[in-house]
Amino acid sequence: MADEPQIRVLPIQVANKIAAGEVVERPASVAKELIENAIDAGATQVDVAVAAGGRKLVSVSDNGRGMSRDDALLSIERHATSKIHDVDDIESIHTLGFRGEALAAIGSVSRFRLTTCRQGDVVGSEIVLAGGGIQDVRDIGCPPGTAIEIRDLFFNVPARRKFLRTQQTELFHIRDVFTIQALAHPEIGMSLTIDGREMHRLPAAENLDDRLRELFSPDLLKQLKMVGHMADGIEVTGKVSVPTVHRADRNEQYLFVNGRATSPALLSYAIREGYRGLLPRGRHPSVFLFLEMPPGWVDVNVHPTKREIRFRRPGDARDVVIAAIQKALSVTPAVTSEADVLPDVVGTIDHLPPVATELKIDDLPPTRAFKYPRPPAVGVSDSPMGDVFGPAPSGTSAPGSGNAEDAPASAAATPPTPEEFGTAPWAWCRVLGQVGGFYVVLETENGMVMMDPRASHERVLYDRFMRGVVDGAVQAQALLIPETVELPSRDAARVRRNLPLFCEMGFGLSEFGGSSFVVDALPSCFDGTSIDRLVTDMAQSLEEVGSRGGQHGKQEAMAQAACRSAVGTRQRLSLTEIESLVVDLAACEMPYTSPRGRPTLIFTSLNELHRKFGRK
Ligand code: ADP
Ligand code: MG
Repeated sequence: MADEPQIRVLPIQVANKIAAGEVVERPASVAKELIENAIDAGATQVDVAVAAGGRKLVSVSDNGRGMSRDDALLSIERHATSKIHDVDDIESIHTLGFRGEALAAIGSVSRFRLTTCRQGDVVGSEIVLAGGGIQDVRDIGCPPGTAIEIRDLFFNVPARRKFLRTQQTELFHIRDVFTIQALAHPEIGMSLTIDGREMHRLPAAENLDDRLRELFSPDLLKQLKMVGHMADGIEVTGKVSVPTVHRADRNEQYLFVNGRATSPALLSYAIREGYRGLLPRGRHPSVFLFLEMPPGWVDVNVHPTKREIRFRRPGDARDVVIAAIQKALSVTPAVTSEADVLPDVVGTIDHLPPVATELKIDDLPPTRAFKYPRPPAVGVSDSPMGDVFGPAPSGTSAPGSGNAEDAPASAAATPPTPEEFGTAPWAWCRVLGQVGGFYVVLETENGMVMMDPRASHERVLYDRFMRGVVDGAVQAQALLIPETVELPSRDAARVRRNLPLFCEMGFGLSEFGGSSFVVDALPSCFDGTSIDRLVTDMAQSLEEVGSRGGQHGKQEAMAQAACRSAVGTRQRLSLTEIESLVVDLAACEMPYTSPRGRPTLIFTSLNELHRKFGRK
């Protein structure tokens, strides 16, 4: 009795059931594993059907290579796989599966039916399991490929069944799985049928765009920018949303590494960084990003669901994604795609009649066309009408359009080369006037643009200021009469703690006892702003940002606040100021939103106008 061993090897069905706990969390996990198997089998058509949120049925059929009778019997054994042969293969995995666990695990917690036939075989095989036990194996006539039906998931694991959520929730996860695989493989035709209703029938597509159009609203595609970037042996392609489009959740962020869907925190961080300063707080972009790198650089063998991955060189992966997003966002907006080429216009008005606005519009030559070079040069005209802007007379430039050395004189001397065009939001534009005494209306080469001058001004100021901060070369200006600022005590404490940051940013700020400070110098771009408000707003931004993002994050928050108050206290802009603003904004790297994520520009293409007026 004492000698009877206490340790026993578990019967295989028990072991499988335990393993199922890791692989099969919910019906969507079944869908995921089966679709992945179909893709690994080289299918060009994959059809998915579910019933009752996947509890009753998850079925996946494919036209892939199918299995022989012997292979089919092996496929349901644990650790049986055709995808790797020895331990070294784990270092370079090219398939979605490789652990050989899924079918065994799924089979052990469901009623399982597999039919499969190889191309050219006269007869296929059918295998039926219940709770992992073989019920039936026989010949069957079926088309080449494999179909697997999983019914009554967890029928023999009541504890698990209880944890399933509502049908709606389970369906949400199933659709997510389907969408992910559909995005990863536009070349594969796919369908999804839910409770007998076909929800998606996606034809095999040429490219990601076609797939996106089928899967999402056609409008989404218009709001996406193309991503293409390669560095350090890592390639990033795909699409990301323009900064004016964002959502409250991250549900439209799809990331793939070597074709495998994944969502490592590292890449979420990279996405945030890529959009830093472009989105309002708490809002998220839509992204569809595909990273490709040598298989040895990613470890997918972290968790049975293979959703987690580890990068051998995480820093590189992160940096490449940030760079890819920034690159995608800093070129022309989506509406100026090839689809929006200028149609033939019947009858043009050569000379605009003078427009009566508060702007001195009569001073405008009839056509004010000009082209922009890339930053840092601030562009002026090489229009056929001659230089329209010329160097801005000192003192009339918009605040933030800055100092004498920024004046566009030198740019005027060297007209930009053609390659430099197209990176600004427009190749040429002219100011038509203002609406409501506020919004600026511009005509551009393929339509019109409404510009929010405040948001734009914030962007221009912010870019100029932050460039100075980052380079450690903020232009500061001593005040003739130093000013005292009295702050609420909490703000004062915060400013005191961050005095060195203020100094780095060009503020001559020192304690003056109690919660008072003396300001004797300011960054010159904030000349004319209420100092009291500037310092107060910056102090408050420190509270909002907390310690998030470290010094850099703090400085960005402070700069945003400073730019906001600088613009907020401005009076109405003069025409000259509007003109400089337009030029300066176009030269910004991210001209489409304010630093706080509000849109600066709203584009209406000529095509859109034609459409609205019923012209083809
Ligand atoms: P893994 O995918 O990790 O290899 P699975 O348990 O998912 O493990 O599948 C086991 C094996 O069964 C696979 O390696 C493959 O050879 C075979 N198999 C599974 N599904 C299919 C399918 N749809 N078409 C062809 N072969 C399949
Ligand atoms: Mg598999």
